[in-house]
Amino acid sequence: MSGLLAGRVALVTGASSGIGEAAALALAGAGASVAVSARRAERLSELVKRIEAAGGQGLALPGDVVDEAVANAAVQKTIAHFGRLDILVNSAGIIQSGGIEASPLDEYRRVIDVNLLATVYTCKAAIGPMKAQGGGDIINISSLAGRKAAKLFNAYTASKHGLNAMTDAMRQEVGGFGIRVCIINPGATATEVFHGVSDPQTRETMQTHVTKDGALAAKDVGDAVLFVVSLPPRANISELSIRPTVDTSA
Ligand code: NDP
Repeated sequence: MSGLLAGRVALVTGASSGIGEAAALALAGAGASVAVSARRAERLSELVKRIEAAGGQGLALPGDVVDEAVANAAVQKTIAHFGRLDILVNSAGIIQSGGIEASPLDEYRRVIDVNLLATVYTCKAAIGPMKAQGGGDIINISSLAGRKAAKLFNAYTASKHGLNAMTDAMRQEVGGFGIRVCIINPGATATEVFHGVSDPQTRETMQTHVTKDGALAAKDVGDAVLFVVSLPPRANISELSIRPTVDTSA
């Protein structure tokens, strides 16, 4: 496929919906071959069909990235299938509400496992191959909650602050090898992110928040991913916050 990213290969986690799906479509639309990962295999198959129908190349890699072996395999299978890995986008993530006192520890651990550790696994697996090929891009989808703590989202805030710190430290470690690293902090974006919130009242509040008038569309954040990788290799956008224009508090 022709385009700005022709010949480049991407792996996007969390690609069965929302921001990950939009990032996969944006990268594929610019000519990259794209492997897509998440647990819902049918959604991934549909996405690959859409990519292929538009003349691109896709690969579905279903699995739970909390499992380190699955996360490693996603990177390895991408390279085995397409021959290289140029762009890794980590968008797999969940949100959970609750202050520290009330948060059940199994939920707390799950948030850290998905939002922080799963991304650590894919990043660790990608760095070696990217170094060997002379560079690459790693983009981690974080949150404005990675910069400003939210009282009643203790685990989520902790996971995203941890993710931002891990990502920035990684950028300093691997930049000398031509690997660009970027944190993207979206504000309210209309996706399915509220589906997994266990408390019904907070789930409804989150739904209202992310689907309100003026909220970002997933495509806006997907296009931001494309923008970040479109700059010349010498330019590393290390962090990008993208907010709804009308909601200045977000
Ligand atoms: P979605 O719920 O639409 O997407 C989340 C994706 O993560 C899905 O593809 C889901 O797929 C995948 N996922 C979740 N858990 C796992 C797992 N254990 N293994 C593999 N894949 C998993 O929400 P968003 O697109 O909004 O979320 C993407 C990222 O954006 C998250 O990190 C979120 O924190 C962040 N974000 C979102 C904001 C918003 O307002 N929407 C604001 C700020 C940040 P599946 O269920 O098929 O596994």
